[in-house]
Amino acid sequence: MALNSPEARDLAHHLHSFTHLPSLERDGPLVLERGEGIYVHDTHGKRYLESVSGLWNVVAGFSEPRLVQAAHEAMAQMPAYHTFFGRTALPPVVLAEKLVEIAPMDVARVYFVNSGSEANDTTVKMLWMMARGAGEPERRKLISRYMAYHGTTVASCSLNGKPYINAFGLPLPEVIYAEAPHHWRNAHPGESEEAYADRLAGELESLIEAEGPETIAGFFAEPVMGAGGAVPPPAGYFPKIQAVLNRHGIPMVADEVVTGLGRTGNLWGAQTYEFTPDIVVTSKALTSGYMPMGAVLLSPEMDRRLRIAAEAYDEFPHGFTTGGSPAAAAVALEAIALITEPGGLLDNVKAVAPTLKAALEGFESHPLVGEVRHVGLLGALEIVADKGSKRPFAPEHEIGERIVQAAYARGLITRPIGDAVIVAPPFSITAEQIGELMESLGAVLDEITDTATRESMGPVPLAASAE
Ligand SMILES: *Cc1c(COP(=O)(O)O)cnc(C)c1O
Repeated sequence: MALNSPEARDLAHHLHSFTHLPSLERDGPLVLERGEGIYVHDTHGKRYLESVSGLWNVVAGFSEPRLVQAAHEAMAQMPAYHTFFGRTALPPVVLAEKLVEIAPMDVARVYFVNSGSEANDTTVKMLWMMARGAGEPERRKLISRYMAYHGTTVASCSLNGKPYINAFGLPLPEVIYAEAPHHWRNAHPGESEEAYADRLAGELESLIEAEGPETIAGFFAEPVMGAGGAVPPPAGYFPKIQAVLNRHGIPMVADEVVTGLGRTGNLWGAQTYEFTPDIVVTSKALTSGYMPMGAVLLSPEMDRRLRIAAEAYDEFPHGFTTGGSPAAAAVALEAIALITEPGGLLDNVKAVAPTLKAALEGFESHPLVGEVRHVGLLGALEIVADKGSKRPFAPEHEIGERIVQAAYARGLITRPIGDAVIVAPPFSITAEQIGELMESLGAVLDEITDTATRESMGPVPLAASAE
């Protein structure tokens, strides 16, 4: 790393999010300079295929002129405004209408924020305020699920079903967790997906009854677990869960930050998995990541309850200075147009998803791959040290970090989550580019198999690694 290079300067003074610090010290950061469709270029001019759309969000690719133009025009017209005190710029008005039109359920009103985390924290505050407004101040508990990811602000981080939240002394005491719906990892031997989903619904009902339904403010779920490892639900899961929640009058919040706006092959995960949320949280693809923005979509009943609760205060006492920024809203409107127009990005997702599915399924026989998961333009290869026992590699093998570095060398940006390698390319990817992506990924996995299995891997059979 050259002295005074962008990489050296980054290492000196820039604190990175969710970054393994010893690896960063050893390998240095990757500093990107320029985007070109599904590719990005680093400061040395090296090109990488971005197989995970940045953080799932840059669905229109990294050089979409229509989004740049929308931002430019909106900023030239009205560079900034807020949504407090009954005031707003025009683009959020139009975007709220648009989201009502395309939402997966009846939506009465839309609330704008800057991120998915803010959207989830806002939703928690809304649910608590609704309960108090209805004279039920004890209704505060929030059900989340192990392995869930809902963000990094205090409440949204508390909803994450991950051990690292202990670093902050979280979760908040109101949060309780249901089982992660991962059939391959958690089902009983021989249990079908449907039977497993039935069991999870039964366990949720027992949890609700044990805690007291009258103490539960809401249930949060990602239609497909994203940062939990791209885990689609078992067959029939959401309708069964929804029936339990409905029986006990518990609002269902669909965190569609990853799944929203097309990733699963429909506009919303709630459509792919056939359920009707009371609240939808969206962000990421909403602006294709070009501007910070999130939104909370409220059903008529949720909106009614919030308005009743607000009467005591003459307002909804909440807001973010830059929430509903006109430029972000204008970019979101253009991103939605790019996604939904005939021949647009959603049509492309539907057209190329079978190619991704076939390519991923080609890895089922790979010695390192324990499970292949996919829906729409989202996939994961679960890496195991031993296929029979599903045993993962021990952390000291740093399998994820090795995959990242081997992929860099081949001009590929990947994202291992835990033991899963995620594939979530921009919606603009072609079938041919999927071939290129999967070929590079295959070469990376073969390379890892050769080196990793030779070191103290124990039970990985040599015969398998020679395949
Ligand atoms: C990324 C993510 C969030 C948090 O969004 P930020 O914009 O990073 O705050 C929330 N929920 C899900 C499902 C996510 O993937």
